[in-house]
Parts: sequence; structure tokens; C-alpha cells
Amino acid sequence: MAPQRRLMAVHAHPDDESSKGAATTAKYSDESAEVLIVTCTGGERGDVLNPTFTGDYKGLEAMRELRQREMAQAREALGVSQVWLGFVDSGLPEGDPLPPLPAGSFAAGDLATEVPELVRLVRSFRPHVMTTYDPMGGYPHPDHIRTHQISVAAYILAAHPDYRPDLGEAWSVLKLYYNHDFSIARSLALHEAMLDAGLESPFGPWIDRRNEHPILERHATTRIDVDPWRNRRDAALRAHASQIDPGGFFFAVPRELESQVWPWEEFELASTRVPASIPEVDLFAGIDPEASDAELQAAAAGEGEPPIAGYEDTESAIDFLLPAGIEPDNTTTN
Ligand SMILES: [Zn+2]
Repeated sequence: MAPQRRLMAVHAHPDDESSKGAATTAKYSDESAEVLIVTCTGGERGDVLNPTFTGDYKGLEAMRELRQREMAQAREALGVSQVWLGFVDSGLPEGDPLPPLPAGSFAAGDLATEVPELVRLVRSFRPHVMTTYDPMGGYPHPDHIRTHQISVAAYILAAHPDYRPDLGEAWSVLKLYYNHDFSIARSLALHEAMLDAGLESPFGPWIDRRNEHPILERHATTRIDVDPWRNRRDAALRAHASQIDPGGFFFAVPRELESQVWPWEEFELASTRVPASIPEVDLFAGIDPEASDAELQAAAAGEGEPPIAGYEDTESAIDFLLPAGIEPDNTTTN
């Protein structure tokens, strides 16, 4: 029997795991990989976004409890395990000028204390593959950017035997990916298909906003065919009843049309410690299915420090992150 493979998907808020790479996690779980969702914050500062949702949830504590209940249903729908990192949602700052981030929140916190929490988890779960967001957070929510930062740092540091041996034995994650489910390519493809079918597209205003505030579009390298797992993703989305309007954006595209036009979830291979050939259709491609963990770790250790996509201009990611033992960095909240 082939050794079991493990996938860790790191997300900022409860509901992100259901809108980004959700069907992929359900697929790998069904294919007998062990899948662990890591949720960095409790979603405490999320607003109720579903106009049909009733109930009064005022205050961080009430919101956290509500979202824990929703998350429990979502992970059941996806068939995955899930853990909380325990940081507090920073909220999406709005206004001009932007208000400061709330004291004690995830994005305002100290990387030097946040990163070890994820390193500890990486060293205990020992994922072969890890997913996170791109350096801009996928979209520039401060918690999403911070999620990227701690994921990249943990990917590098968990592999270093000299870094915090008290957090567990070193583990080299073999491949690191960025989620790309909100690409302009996907939005445009679905938008045009909706119009061609004589339907109202939900993407119009969204595409306009993207054009007004261009975000550097990164390239997907990896397309996972997830069509059979769409229902599981939808069930997970619906589990987040306070956040997702069943009559809204996430359910506006008829599923048959989605199957025809865009039956994939996309990722960018951000870093790898195994030989990879692009494009790919499997997050575990290049990882010898028969190799034991010890064999894979020994091979990865010989690869040296892998480059990380988005840090091409820095000498190496390790130099970028390590000189002062990870400097607190609050400069990326825009
Ligand atoms: Zn989020």
C-alpha cells in the first residue's frame, strides 16, 4: 500500500477554505490523503453578509462562537480535519485614510510570535503539500497577506533543524502552492459564458473594480479537475450561513455552465523541493507515490534552499525572512 499523503491548506478566516480550493481538499480527502485546514483567525470581525440570515451576533465572542459552529459543518461537508491557530480577525479596514488595525489582531501582531505557532503545526502534521495565498493575499485583506507571510516563513523555517527544535523535529514540506480561484481569467470566462447564455452575470461590477484597481495577476501552474466535488464545495459554502448568501454571488453561476466552462480549481506552484514539471494537474505531482517519508525528507534535504515565487528580487527567501530572526513587519497592510 502506498504511503499516505498529507495536504495542509492554510486560510485566514472561517469560510475562506470553502471559497478557495475547497473542492480540491474534498477530492484529496476522498482519494485517501489526510487533509488539514488551518484557520488562522476566528473570523470575529466579519460582518453578517447574508441578508437572509437572522440572529443577533454582536461582539467578538458571539461572532467567534457562531463561526465555529459554521466551520464545524463546513469541514464535515468537505470531509477534512481543521484546526484554529487562535489569532483574532483584523477586520477589513475601510475609509480614507484607512484606520489603524485593531490592537491585538492577527495582521497587527508580531510575526516572531505568530510564525512559530504554524511551524509547530507543520512539524506535527508533516504535510507533503501546503497551500496558502500569494504575496498580495489573493486580495489585499491584511489577514490574507499575513496568512501568506506566516505560511512562507513556516515552509522555510519548519525545515531548518536549527530553528526552534522545541517546536518539533524538522519537516520539509515538499511543495508550496498559492490559491488562484479568483483570477481575472476565471471571472472573464464565466462572465462571457453567462452573457452568451442570456443570463445576468454577477461578475460585471467585480471585473470593473479589478480594472480600476489592478492587482498583479499571477500565473496558475496547476489545474485540478474538481467537477465531481462541486457539490461538496457548495455544501461547505452554505455551511457559512452568516457569510454566504445562497441567492448571491457564490451561487449565481448555474452549476452546469460552471462545469462546461471552468471545471477546475487553480493553483500556482510557489516553491518545490521535488522536481516538478509545469503545467500540472495534481498537487502531489513529482512526489514519488511509493517513497516513504524518510526517503522523501532525505531527498528534499539535498535540494538546498528553494526559491519562493514572489520573492524573485530578494537574494533568497531565507535571507529575506531570517536576518533578525523574523522581524515584526507591519508595513504590508496598505
Ligand atoms: Zn478571508
